[in-house]
Amino acid sequence: MSFSVSSSYEKLRTIVDATSNDALPSPAALLKATNSLPASLPAKGLGEAATEAHLLSDIIPGFNGPKTSSNYYGFVTGGVLPIAEVADNIVTAFDQNVQVHLPDQSVSTVVEDRASSMLVELLNLGSGWNGRTFTAGATGANILGLACGREAVITTRLKAAGIEEGVGELGLLAACLKAGVKEVQVLTTMGHSSLYKAASVVGLGRASVKDIPVSADEPWRLDLRTLEHELRRSKEGVLSIVAISAGEVNTGMFATNGLDDMRRIRELCDEFGAWVHVDAAFGLFARSLPETDEFEILRSKLSGIELADSITSDCHKMLNVPYDCGIFFTRSADTLSSIFQNPNAAYLASGPASIHSPLNVGLENSRRFRALPVYAVLLAYGKYELAEIFARQVRLARAVSKFLRDSEEYELLPTVPKSATHKENISVPNIEFGDTHIIVLFRAKDEDVNTELVKRINATRKMYVSGTRWEGRPACRIAISTWRIDVNRDTNLIKEVLKSILENRG
Ligand SMILES: *Cc1c(COP(=O)(O)O)cnc(C)c1O
Repeated sequence: MSFSVSSSYEKLRTIVDATSNDALPSPAALLKATNSLPASLPAKGLGEAATEAHLLSDIIPGFNGPKTSSNYYGFVTGGVLPIAEVADNIVTAFDQNVQVHLPDQSVSTVVEDRASSMLVELLNLGSGWNGRTFTAGATGANILGLACGREAVITTRLKAAGIEEGVGELGLLAACLKAGVKEVQVLTTMGHSSLYKAASVVGLGRASVKDIPVSADEPWRLDLRTLEHELRRSKEGVLSIVAISAGEVNTGMFATNGLDDMRRIRELCDEFGAWVHVDAAFGLFARSLPETDEFEILRSKLSGIELADSITSDCHKMLNVPYDCGIFFTRSADTLSSIFQNPNAAYLASGPASIHSPLNVGLENSRRFRALPVYAVLLAYGKYELAEIFARQVRLARAVSKFLRDSEEYELLPTVPKSATHKENISVPNIEFGDTHIIVLFRAKDEDVNTELVKRINATRKMYVSGTRWEGRPACRIAISTWRIDVNRDTNLIKEVLKSILENRG
């Protein structure tokens, strides 16, 4: 009997549709799934039918629910819009290798290019983003960002010394020696852990990442005075990449306060030869919210991001395409290709073209057609409906923030009034929690409850949250990023869970 992929898809869909809304599997299901794994490679395979049965009935019940539950608020995971799932299945079925632009042979690189340019439109980034590539996630995009920054700032010095090759050719050590560069530092505030990883990967080192916050009360905000001071060190051979956290992962707060801050940063970086990178893995989509008063503060905070040299974002978060899918944008396609060009492989040449071969502008050569789900989502929903999908995520975060602020038992964080950070230069509409995006940070006032808060919430399995630390104490974080949200229903569920775990006290 031959195995049928299509009947397998049908069975799979039936199971997915019947999957409960629980955020976590039961411990028993998880144990059963784990125990069902063979200890070693079978000498004689089970066959496709038996393996399918194993996957569907043993493995699937051991999965957690970020994609199927509307109440999985751990990390920032995103869900999967139905059309994105369909597109992802098409990607697998046709298994296009999107590494070389071969427009006479496959439409895939053209689709990929169109998807990334439509994203530029959705995000209101304006023109000039000639370097665009899909990455596995924001981590990959941050590696590209720091690689570009490193290449650009050192190469400018090399050119000034009359040397034509860049870092990609010479290597970091030789390039720095020839250019008289002592150090390349990454200036940031509350950089995501992946920024440190990226600094290590591109040879700058984790120790090169320096936090320059305005104050201990607002650790997410970049201090422009310290920035200027650090940038001036370029005269002593210390070059800088500025990494702006546009959507800090604990609080959702932004390092800059809008257009004026970004203009000043741009000016300083031009003066002292620094690169401006923005890590806006989830924050960037605040630029695509409906153009109404309700979201005016958020949109103004993200204003000016388009002045950067490079930007990281994630499509597998708020845009709700499946893993893996991040995006990297840069204004300098030349910088990108001077690092990532895949030289000396005539058989991979695509000839002159307006579309870069992905292998020359990113980490991988062979790579998945990860742009297709993005393309499908952009086409299916368009600018307005996507704005509404993002708006629902924000509205739930604001409703939960309001509940926590008014609660006797919980404390909404950060305790510094967020709006205090936003007095400058815009006419702020009087919207409650107008600068709350999709992240809600809080703790229980009772210290004993607080120590166990995350554990107790997750033990209900009705919703899932991540733990973190804030001001040296445990804190709890709700990150909202799925299209499945129903604001009223989910606000009520969150309230019920947060009330119920207090009743279990002692
Ligand atoms: C999620 C996130 C990342 C890492 O993204 P991956 O897609 O997991 O690689 C980096 N920066 C920020 C701000 C994030 O929220």
